[in-house]
Amino acid sequence: MKHFSTDIIIIGAGIAGLSAGCYAQMNGYRTRIFELHNLPGGLCTAWERKGYIFDGCIHYLFGSGVGQPFYSLWKELGVVQSRCFVHHDELMRIIGSDGKTLIVYCDPNKLERHLKELSPADSGKIEEFCAGIRAFTDFDMSLLLQKPKILTSFADWVQLSLKLLPFVGPLAKWGNISAQEFGNTFKDPFLRRAIPQIFAWTNIPVMVGMSLLAYMNNHNAGFPIGGSLEFARAIEKRYIELGGEIHYNSQVERIIVENNRAVAVRLYNNEVYTALRVISACDGRGTLFDLLGGKYIDKKIKKLYDGHLPVHSQLQVSLGVNRDFSGEPHWVTYLLDKPMVIAGEERYEVGVKHYCFDQTLAPKGESVVMVMLSTTYDYWQRIYGRSIYGAEQIQESGILIDLLETLYPGIKADIKYIDVATPLSYERYTGNWQGSSCGWLLTKETMSMMISGMQKKLPGLNNFYMIGQWVEPGGSVPVVAMSGRNIIQEICHEDKRKFIAEP
Ligand SMILES: Cc1cc2nc3c(=O)[nH]c(=O)nc-3n(C[C@H](O)[C@H](O)[C@H](O)COP(=O)(O)OP(=O)(O)OC[C@H]3O[C@@H](n4cnc5c(N)ncnc54)[C@H](O)[C@@H]3O)c2cc1C
Repeated sequence: MKHFSTDIIIIGAGIAGLSAGCYAQMNGYRTRIFELHNLPGGLCTAWERKGYIFDGCIHYLFGSGVGQPFYSLWKELGVVQSRCFVHHDELMRIIGSDGKTLIVYCDPNKLERHLKELSPADSGKIEEFCAGIRAFTDFDMSLLLQKPKILTSFADWVQLSLKLLPFVGPLAKWGNISAQEFGNTFKDPFLRRAIPQIFAWTNIPVMVGMSLLAYMNNHNAGFPIGGSLEFARAIEKRYIELGGEIHYNSQVERIIVENNRAVAVRLYNNEVYTALRVISACDGRGTLFDLLGGKYIDKKIKKLYDGHLPVHSQLQVSLGVNRDFSGEPHWVTYLLDKPMVIAGEERYEVGVKHYCFDQTLAPKGESVVMVMLSTTYDYWQRIYGRSIYGAEQIQESGILIDLLETLYPGIKADIKYIDVATPLSYERYTGNWQGSSCGWLLTKETMSMMISGMQKKLPGLNNFYMIGQWVEPGGSVPVVAMSGRNIIQEICHEDKRKFIAEP
């Protein structure tokens, strides 16, 4: 058993942990990050297979536009200065079985014209919707993450309130309706089916999707060239340059508590590392019930993990294809007339995406093509460890490839590599409960948790903090990076130090 002392221990080198590490180092704290995997990034990752890079995360990154919301965060973390971003003019297309197509343009004027052409009878609703997107053009979502402890003065509060004031109306109106509910109000039968799909998940509050389109239109929600893992590696580099230490293949087994103070962590190899503070930037449930043995929870926290809150788990089939897809729209959701049964559920929609907009991800003239579906963790968990798990992966990918063959004739013969990731893959590589892609899924029910903010400290436990997607409902790369920044700002406040954030 060894003892090493440091100021702050951070559990997890996902984006939240790396960000907290960087800001801690900027503020003169000595830190160590312990990461169970051999890579940085956590869910913000990608994997290389036979010359193809299959991206497992970023579709759009808030903060990719110079001077716009979240940009300064990424500048401080050193990731935007020398990075190129792809900015799409359309988020995706939704194509019915008769070929009818909704193009989700990011420009609200273009979108409005297009939607009205598709359904003049829904003009009023369409105008309202596009006005909503325009209303969020100048909305700084990062303001919602500012919490009392880091707003140190009355003047801070006044400033924040004034900035948020113009958005209170649109937030109340569009935060309380899901894409599915909004779609149900359309008269046109195609739009009734297509509108719920426009932001890729049907129970997203419309306000979140509107902000996404507004940010995309402002070129503030791009895809980082090189993909998600390269992006995470850039923050890892920044952390190491700031003097931080990362221990890979180092899974924390226990947080050691003495006199109600978190004082150390013990790894699975029995090494013990002491610190003045411990920050958990990993799975929320694992932190509370495994690392801390369920001792520091109250009724409210226990209820969070009783299974009533929604999480999003994903099945991702990634294909290396010897064909150039760059002439195809980059993301299409196909509406099916007859359902396909995949992973025990009837599917009426299938999302297909290619990554030819980033030439670093496939050999020249070839493509990475991906099929993404929501799935339930339980389905895969029931068969895990048995031979049918592998057989099921092959069967489901086979059904999807048969579908692709009808959409892109000849593709079957061009496929050179097939990779299947289930919620169990995400759980195995990142420890996230149910393989969740974003902690608590952002719905109109969890929106209020996001706006009011979740507890980052636990009852009866000092010197301990939680950050990342399980305490920031909806997760996302910029929000969890902000979570890391905010906690160090709060720690500086506790220590009466001026918070420093240097680009
Ligand atoms: C398919 C997919 C698509 C997404 N698309 C987008 C997108 O387009 N835009 C966007 O902004 N966000 C997107 N997200 C969400 C975003 O990736 C996550 O919300 C965010 O990366 C979570 O970061 P985190 O640091 O909170 O947690 P994690 O990434 O889960 O990091 C936690 C880290 O802790 C480590 N760990 C766990 N347990 C231990 C332990 N006991 N000891 C040591 N280490 C441990 C894990 O290995 C992991 O590295 C997507 C996610 C997925 C999966």
